[in-house]
Amino acid sequence: MYVDMNRQFPGDPGSMSHTRRAVHTFWTEIIKKCDYTVNLHGCMKEQIPRVVYSEDVPETLEMAKAIACTDDWIIANKSEHTRLKEDTINHACAEAGIPNVFIESGSGCRGYDAIRASSDRVVEGILNCMRRYGVVEGDVKRPPRWRKTEFYTHVRGKGAGIIHPEPCLRVETKVKKGDLLCRVFDFLGEEIDRVHAPHDGVILMEPNAVSVGPESSICLLAHPPKCFA
Ligand SMILES: [Zn+2]
Repeated sequence: MYVDMNRQFPGDPGSMSHTRRAVHTFWTEIIKKCDYTVNLHGCMKEQIPRVVYSEDVPETLEMAKAIACTDDWIIANKSEHTRLKEDTINHACAEAGIPNVFIESGSGCRGYDAIRASSDRVVEGILNCMRRYGVVEGDVKRPPRWRKTEFYTHVRGKGAGIIHPEPCLRVETKVKKGDLLCRVFDFLGEEIDRVHAPHDGVILMEPNAVSVGPESSICLLAHPPKCFA
């Protein structure tokens, strides 16, 4: 059975599940002893690097601003995951009042240079956050402005099939509610779905896939970001 550790927090010391016991040890022996925590997520899809903070823990916005130290980044305070209140690290940390942010990043290109560039950007952000809190020495870098979105959504279609993307289905493209993002065809070439933008926003993550499963996420769409300095 597949168990996602990041849906088991804070674990349970009396559980029959090794995973839940291991999570509980990680929670009590490591996370609860931390002043600040960052969890790293990602996948091999072209995306705007983003750092998600928790509005329930005000300090996390400061952390997010330190991590988003170049204007590539987008800061978000809610995603589908945070809204679902699942038993994730960030949810458990928010309940316990431990500042926690999570980073999502990745590249659609599997070449060394592209993967390296996206991981270097994450390392740069975390080091800047460590400088911000005096963990390492050095000047704290600030971008000319920060970009922040209130919420981002997974855009899903109705059926499984082959994705035919429209030209707007590209990272950083602005779309309007109702814009056609892609069409989905079955294996016999029949169009089975037209997927439209559920709200105005900017494409945060591309599909980078030929096909999509039933009800699966096709792309991520952020509500129009606002800039602040
Ligand atoms: Zn994630």
